[in-house]
Amino acid sequence: MSVKKGLLGLNPPQREAAETISGPVLILAGAGTGKTRTVTTRIAGMLYSDIPGSQILAVTFTNKAAAEMRDRVASMVDQKMAEDVTICTFHSLCVRILRTCIERLGYKKNFTIYTASDQQGLLRKIIVRKVSKDEKLEPKVASMAISSAKNRGERPEDLDDALIAEVYRTYQRELRQLNAVDFDDLLILAVQGLKENPDIKKQWQRRFRYFMVDEFQDTNHLQMSLLRLLVGPEKNVCVVGDDDQSIYGWRGADISNILDFERFFPGPKIVKLEENYRSTNRILRLANGLIRHNRGRREKTLWSGRGEGELTRLIAMPDAETEADFVINDIVEEHRLQNRSYDDIAILFRMNTQSRLFEEKLREHEIPYKVIGGQSFYERREVKDVLAYLNLLMNNDDDVSLLRIITTPPRGIGENAIGMATQFSIDRQCSIFDALHDIEFLASLSMRAQNAISRFLEFLDRYTDSANTDSVNYAAMTEAMLEEIGYTDYVKRICKSPDEADMRRRNVHEFLEGMHQHVSNRKTGLRGFLDAVALMQDKEEKEDDKENGTGVSLITMHAAKGLEFPKCFIVGVEEGVLPHSRSVEEGSRDEERRLFYVGITRAMEKLTITWCHSRRRYGDLMPCMPSSFFKELDEDELEKTDYQTLADEPADEELAADYFARMKEMLSK
Ligand code: ATP
Ligand code: MG
Repeated sequence: MSVKKGLLGLNPPQREAAETISGPVLILAGAGTGKTRTVTTRIAGMLYSDIPGSQILAVTFTNKAAAEMRDRVASMVDQKMAEDVTICTFHSLCVRILRTCIERLGYKKNFTIYTASDQQGLLRKIIVRKVSKDEKLEPKVASMAISSAKNRGERPEDLDDALIAEVYRTYQRELRQLNAVDFDDLLILAVQGLKENPDIKKQWQRRFRYFMVDEFQDTNHLQMSLLRLLVGPEKNVCVVGDDDQSIYGWRGADISNILDFERFFPGPKIVKLEENYRSTNRILRLANGLIRHNRGRREKTLWSGRGEGELTRLIAMPDAETEADFVINDIVEEHRLQNRSYDDIAILFRMNTQSRLFEEKLREHEIPYKVIGGQSFYERREVKDVLAYLNLLMNNDDDVSLLRIITTPPRGIGENAIGMATQFSIDRQCSIFDALHDIEFLASLSMRAQNAISRFLEFLDRYTDSANTDSVNYAAMTEAMLEEIGYTDYVKRICKSPDEADMRRRNVHEFLEGMHQHVSNRKTGLRGFLDAVALMQDKEEKEDDKENGTGVSLITMHAAKGLEFPKCFIVGVEEGVLPHSRSVEEGSRDEERRLFYVGITRAMEKLTITWCHSRRRYGDLMPCMPSSFFKELDEDELEKTDYQTLADEPADEELAADYFARMKEMLSK
């Protein structure tokens, strides 16, 4: 393929954006207008103009979106060329930067990335110590408050709530002591590292010469600072986004970054795209009608060459059970009668918890599916155990991991000794690992406990050495380690049923398989493997399946950003869910509307929106109201109906006839 031919897949304004590779470029355009396609084609075009891939950096928000971009580029150029390009998330870029400079910020090079669940483990520990009996603080609430403070650049002393401020202060101090950073720290520290160290900044500026950011509307001020620090004097930076799809206000994303872009990178070429290549006009008009209700947006005219298409069905359901049954039956029918692949279908919802019922029904019908935003593979207990061992080997100061595995399996070190070691580590401001080495501490324990600890430390030292040897096959090492501690037997003992034990054993096996693959594919070592695993657990998009599985996608609207599916269901659209009840007090109704807009614009051909008259909450059936956004949807684009009417309808005769005709044809072959 030549450059020209590649660019032929673009319309004139897209092409103009792809061909302008020097200086700043700003593409602001509505959903499905080919922003991402323009970026990927732009990268391919650059590679064909002999720009080395190693000088190109493209950043986006989710791992899924980054993988998708990588695939799109790889399909246009040869694999070797594509591999040299860095296409990653902001978080993963920050990890790369921090691995080169975190020592200057007072951390050790081998820092551990704490995922949301590690973070909550640590917070729980702190809260127990800090909160008196009559106060109450959920780790989740604390972590949200801390995260938003960090993203606003606020320090503990800036907070009004004294308890949260104290928990925040301790949390931050302990993280540092543990040589661990959370997701927010990744960005904060990377920015700090580059700001405070001009030599490192220069080094990174020299490394990349061409920058692209997809989903630019969701960058927060830290990500914007990072971009400004990385982009060198040539200012070859192209950002693409849609102000109507900004859905991360709660993470500090700031639409004003779009306006600021022109201030920081003056005189950009501004490209507008108006043709939508994704959805039918009926779906587009529905989306446009809704988003028109937002204030202070840039008006866009979107049109599609994909024809009028079908009306969107808006269906009232009696209850959640019926809703799930209906959706699954519809999927089965569509698959059977219209030959639609399960991969082409998505069920979108506002909150993770909404997926459970749908999962159950899909399993019942043996329909393949993947959950994005549900419990991650890496959050399963047995996988977390193994990960904790490995994290501890890479960073002996990681107390959260140490506490997890010190009794998993039990090795003669009792709760009492562990409690004393923890207290000692707090008093001395050292890690528990160091406490276990301390002669004074050991002297306070029984001989038996001392022996158990010394065996444990000997074991840790041995594996720490091998884990940190460059040439080690860390997958084989992990296998040997699990064998040595009798992990499989332990799992068997703690499981309630042989089935459960079998499932957990298989998960460990699967994890090891993934590791073996990593060993043979990449050169980043165990550290790189653990980073990749941690980064995959970004709150919004934990994937159920380690591989990119196939089947119906169950996905939150947040995680669905940038993706598209021929047939979409948006389910559970009730007042209090979408818009979320929090949005009233937080004044984020516009953002909720944008979220709904993102949901609607994922659909290419067919869209169904459902809501329930009642829903079970804590066992009681509670009445629900339809979303107040429905009033803003254009009636002409909707087929409003309810479950009963649909259930009373005779089966679609035309479809049935078609089905039998095809059956007959097959049989006569
Ligand atoms: P979103 O705002 O949802 O991120 P987007 O603007 O990034 O959307 P893309 O995902 O790049 O849009 O494109 C939407 C669909 O339209 C894709 O299937 C893409 O391949 C197709 N498309 C984009 N541009 C063209 C084009 N010039 N010709 C044909 N198809 C196109
Ligand atoms: Mg996109």
